[in-house]
Amino acid sequence: MSLMFASPVRITPTVRSFTLTSSRRCNYTVMSAVRSDSASTCSVFTKFQNDCETPTPFLRNVADAISDDMRAGLAVEGGGDLPMILTYVDALPSGKEEGLFYALDLGGTNFRVRSVQLGGKQERVVAAESEQLSIPKELMIGTSEELFGFIASNLANFVAKEKPGRFQLETGKKREIGFTFSFPVNQTSIVSGTVIKWTKGFKVSGMEGKNVVACLNEAMEAHGLDMRVSALVNDGVGTLAGARYWDEDVMVGVILGTGTNACYVEQKQKIPKLHSKSSSGTTIINTEWGGFSKILPQTIFDQELDEESINPGEHLYEKMISGMYLGEVVRRVLLQMCKTTDLFGQSIPVKLSTPFALRTEDLCKMQEDNTDDLLSVGTILYNIFEVEANLKERKRVVEVCDTVVKRGGRLAGAGIVAILEKIERETKRMASGQRTVVAMDGALYEKYPQYRRYMQDALVELLGHSLASHVAIKHTKDVSGLGAALLAATNSIY
Ligand code: ADP
Ligand code: MG
Repeated sequence: MSLMFASPVRITPTVRSFTLTSSRRCNYTVMSAVRSDSASTCSVFTKFQNDCETPTPFLRNVADAISDDMRAGLAVEGGGDLPMILTYVDALPSGKEEGLFYALDLGGTNFRVRSVQLGGKQERVVAAESEQLSIPKELMIGTSEELFGFIASNLANFVAKEKPGRFQLETGKKREIGFTFSFPVNQTSIVSGTVIKWTKGFKVSGMEGKNVVACLNEAMEAHGLDMRVSALVNDGVGTLAGARYWDEDVMVGVILGTGTNACYVEQKQKIPKLHSKSSSGTTIINTEWGGFSKILPQTIFDQELDEESINPGEHLYEKMISGMYLGEVVRRVLLQMCKTTDLFGQSIPVKLSTPFALRTEDLCKMQEDNTDDLLSVGTILYNIFEVEANLKERKRVVEVCDTVVKRGGRLAGAGIVAILEKIERETKRMASGQRTVVAMDGALYEKYPQYRRYMQDALVELLGHSLASHVAIKHTKDVSGLGAALLAATNSIY
């Protein structure tokens, strides 16, 4: 497996002096069922654009507020918006791991199963196989038996197809699994934890207070699978561990996919809630930063999205920066523009009222359109909303996409800076010229170049050129699965 190395972030900052005052936010035109064609003095779009602004001083405040919540969460349980979960992962992969291990990855959109035959320091990954399925929508809001039954039955199919020549399980050993469960979990050991809350549109019943691993074990037993979960990790931890296997400078793992999260290497002595002052060394902290909800540039569209979500009032950062929501924010803005101006003609397209009709993938495709007449923007709008948009309208739609993506990318950058600065305060590694790598996974970061660029701009603006020159953001596709398998190896009972 080869990893793509991004070059250190070297982007000219676009620093503007901008004082954030409430006066820059003006009132939206009141939403009405009857369209009013009169041009508002402060149009929906202009106001939205203003409200989404994230000038450098404002981003600095966001990074500092995230940093404060990190500190508060490390001090006591529930001290801040960020739970700063102890992951019980103290040892990261060394490269010496050997044997056959499995990984299950329950993300927000997809479910992946993977097997890896590890050959130690020299041979590394000898063989690997993986399979990906989309998670049926009904399972996201069904029962735990249904969800874990789905996981176990697909795992059983996967194992049944295994080619014996390629993969070898040592006699006397059970197949061991690293289980990546990408929802906030209150971890009680490396192999147990309970769901704190569901996110990303999931709401699975029957799991309150129940050990996630026990749920999987029951389902595996029901499917006649004699396997053992040796590590319960989250996708951020998996990403950090998987990337560290190839690169010793990896200190942070960030997810920007359906949802978002970040994990990093922390000094145990800097974790007051660990209550063991003598503890030395490092451990991985799962920030669950998606839960950050302070001082964010929330517009009426974000508020309405939040109110109608499965977890109102929570995970406001995630709702502004992650793939599940960017398209939906744009749709809400377009709908309001349609209601108050003559965007898309005289009538309001019915499909524009369908929640989540516009996906983040669609925004990305529209922003990719380099043609003068924005042909593919027109096609996408026609296919999704059945509207025939003229060139001016297409341009306007792209501007709305860019506004939302810019805000999302920049806010994500501020979060990364908060973590990097914390690491820097404790280790001074960047100041002493040591390369520091942020391992990144998730299709939003991978596939959305504008998002990536905005994120990197923010990083340089806040960190400054000097420190930023030692930071590399390294996209490590699907590495979290490898990381989970490696952590199963590290925590093997054999
Ligand atoms: P998960 O978060 O479920 O582990 P991924 O990392 O594959 O899965 O992320 C899937 C999410 O990434 C989608 O929900 C979507 O929001 C976003 N995404 C997928 N493809 C693209 C794309 N081409 N452009 C922008 N965003 C995308
Ligand atoms: Mg994922």
